[in-house]
Amino acid sequence: MNDASFPSILPTYARAPLSFERGEGAWLIERDGRRFLDMTSGIGVNALGHAHPALVDALSEQAAKLWHTSNLFNIPAQEALAAALVEHTFADTAFFTNSGTEALELAVKMVRKFWHDAGAPQRQTILAFEGAFHGRSMAAISAAGSAKLTTGFGPLLPGFRQLPFGDHDALTAALDDTIAAVIVEPIQGEGGIRVLPDVCLKGLREACDRTGALLIFDEVQCGMGRTGRLFAHEWAGVTPDIMMVAKGIGGGFPLGATLATAHAAAPMTAGTHGSTYGGNPLACAVGARVMEIVSAPAFLAEVARKGSTLWQHLEGLAATHPQVIEEVRGEGLMAGLKCVVPNTDLVAAARDQNLLAVPAADNVIRLLPPLTITEEELSEAIYRLDRAASTLSPA
Ligand SMILES: *Cc1c(COP(=O)(O)O)cnc(C)c1O
Repeated sequence: MNDASFPSILPTYARAPLSFERGEGAWLIERDGRRFLDMTSGIGVNALGHAHPALVDALSEQAAKLWHTSNLFNIPAQEALAAALVEHTFADTAFFTNSGTEALELAVKMVRKFWHDAGAPQRQTILAFEGAFHGRSMAAISAAGSAKLTTGFGPLLPGFRQLPFGDHDALTAALDDTIAAVIVEPIQGEGGIRVLPDVCLKGLREACDRTGALLIFDEVQCGMGRTGRLFAHEWAGVTPDIMMVAKGIGGGFPLGATLATAHAAAPMTAGTHGSTYGGNPLACAVGARVMEIVSAPAFLAEVARKGSTLWQHLEGLAATHPQVIEEVRGEGLMAGLKCVVPNTDLVAAARDQNLLAVPAADNVIRLLPPLTITEEELSEAIYRLDRAASTLSPA
């Protein structure tokens, strides 16, 4: 007998009461016909908005030819995407996954194998930062370490330690020769759009160079053009040894990747890792098209320009509503509003104005519009947020 009182979908999400039927660029259309301005982009996934013609073409062309072969064979679209990623980043090589979490799993395995093969198996500990989010697998929650992610799920995987966010002294003190790697989001997404200052990223690189620890950047949310550079760490002028990418890279098709230098990746020889779906022809056909569009310098310059427009608007909004918004954070089209009122109140008030935003930790609401959003749509977003904030301000 089924328990009819238990939800047929495992109730792990607190969903908004909306069901979308269609999307057009920065707009989502509800079943009842209402049009919502989408400042969520599926949590930074729909980098080119909904139903972008180039992506619809890429997917349908590939769908008519070949869906899946497995990695038993060469996959030309995967090779093309890997070549583009290698050309445009620090990396020498890429492994494709279906998600950011799986990209984290490989990053961790790569670090362990690196020190194993280097004859220093005692170097096991990976340092992470408080407020981090790296996914929901056992390794990912063990890395992030917060009570919110880990309570009830012990025993956690050993070999992770968390340091206070942006505390260089704590980092320097912790970085001894038992440390295998350091993992950091250049901009924390779930953690509340907390930007790690350039000087910290530089300091981190220098500290890792001193001890030989590998440096992992998690650019699952802040990468793929979101900040106005292809990857957020480019602003600081430093590069990692390993980087996780996902979300925007597939434009809405499930796709992720772990990128690495030859130095870090060398121990990952045939048979050491794999994935049935990772890098499948459908995902890579779309990913290659996303990469082609997003990596164009003119596209990135446009994102940076729209980012500064958004920033100015948001500063104005915060100044108008000091009882609702206390701080604007972020870079490019990755913006956070630290709220005075509960962040979920502002998300709900915005929804009443047909604008969609994402809550984050630290009482922040996130605005992650499609990178293709227009100036007019950004102004419209501010207008709607202004009305939403007005409903929460004391009269
Ligand atoms: C979303 C996210 C992940 C996990 O990605 P999934 O595709 O949900 O597995 C990891 N790191 C960061 C920074 C993220 O924002």
